[in-house]
Amino acid sequence: MVDPTSDLGEDVDEADAPSCASCGSKIVQSPTHRVVTWIEDGSVQTRHFCSEECKAEADDAW
Ligand SMILES: [Zn+2]
Repeated sequence: MVDPTSDLGEDVDEADAPSCASCGSKIVQSPTHRVVTWIEDGSVQTRHFCSEECKAEADDAW
């Protein structure tokens, strides 16, 4: 059973790992992992990035 309160990067199988929203890389225990969350249509949306650079690229695209 997955504990939803676990810190990101702990006990994450590669198959369950999030993909970078910018470059598509699997993010597994990356120290540069960035997560962006926002509320859309009443639910929490989450986007993962493998690095600050990828997050910045996505910010530019928006
Ligand atoms: Zn990336």
